[in-house]
Amino acid sequence: MARIDIAGLSKSYAGKQGARAVDAIDLAIADGEVMALVGPSGCGKTTTLQLLAGFLKPDAGTIAVGDRVVSSPRHVVPPEHRRMSLIFQSYAVWPHKTVFENVAYGLRVMKLSRSEIEDRTREVLRSVRMTDLAARYPSELSGGQQQRVALARAVVVKPETLLLDEPLSNLDANLREEMRFEIRRIHDATGITMVYVTHDQTEAMVTADRIALMRGGKIAQVGTAHEIYEQPATAFVATFVGGTNTLPATLIEPHVVECCGARLRVRDDFDAAQRGPVTLCIRPHSMGFAAAGDDAVGYQENGHNRLAGVVLRQTYLGDARDYLIDLGTTQVRVSTPPSEDRSVGSTVHLDLPVEACRVVPGD
Ligand code: ATP
Repeated sequence: MARIDIAGLSKSYAGKQGARAVDAIDLAIADGEVMALVGPSGCGKTTTLQLLAGFLKPDAGTIAVGDRVVSSPRHVVPPEHRRMSLIFQSYAVWPHKTVFENVAYGLRVMKLSRSEIEDRTREVLRSVRMTDLAARYPSELSGGQQQRVALARAVVVKPETLLLDEPLSNLDANLREEMRFEIRRIHDATGITMVYVTHDQTEAMVTADRIALMRGGKIAQVGTAHEIYEQPATAFVATFVGGTNTLPATLIEPHVVECCGARLRVRDDFDAAQRGPVTLCIRPHSMGFAAAGDDAVGYQENGHNRLAGVVLRQTYLGDARDYLIDLGTTQVRVSTPPSEDRSVGSTVHLDLPVEACRVVPGD
């Protein structure tokens, strides 16, 4: 069993009095799950992974794998006794060994029989599509191929858990996209529990079953990509995943806010008991220009909210136009079909569908 339970985990580099790099984290990772740790630079992703690996001792809290506590302030099971494999940004393949020998090494250390080493190495090389390159040295491989060797070497020893820290950040954009699917495919073939650190939300969405979004050493939200995108708990989550406009608003009655001088209706999945300052979140592609001639603002009978603004900037992107609109008290980004051409300085009216207007606590 490689279920991982993190409970109350804290770590500060400057001793217990310093700012916490990881601050009282609770996280349960199911057996066979891929969990992505995502968040801005410095939010504590790598520190969490190093605690998981056993390189750091927590100041407080525990990490359990299955029924076994592997980390606590009193005792840390060393990395080599954790049945965890690690992959970091740098490929860390041995330059003087062939691809085959790089992968077989871990099995030789385990003193397996020659035929078993041969069979398992060949099988894993097949699964990462490196069979034809088994006799090559790393210097004769592309970056993506070297990263596949690193993956093969990590999984050949059949670890319970694979920890990956920004494993694709040294690759170019095309290769990175291909390798995301590759890592997910290898997971599906092996069922290894994976914890995957990245600051790239698309990478997390492709590779992971669930995403833990971190900020300032804490977990801001845990959920599937769909949950985090569709039901962000805070303005930070909505902004970090997928990008959103955040507009200061006041909740004045259930599902009705005052925003930019108008009364707007919002989705009904916010706890209406919390009246007062809130943040209205709406994605740039969820808004559009209203037909000319209808200048009323606020909630309209057709189920849309309408706001008036002035075009500050317009960028043609081929498949879309990106607008920056001044709403008086704040500015919003709007993404429209390329045919919607409005010139800079013109007054426009924006339609904001009620279903796309989500309210979260003021952030
Ligand atoms: P990035 O995406 O930039 O790699 P991260 O989310 O992985 O960031 P961590 O590397 O875990 O973040 O760092 C969390 C906090 O701990 C940061 O404020 C960082 O400056 C601090 N920190 C990390 N390593 C050390 C260290 N060895 N000594 C002191 N402070 C550290």
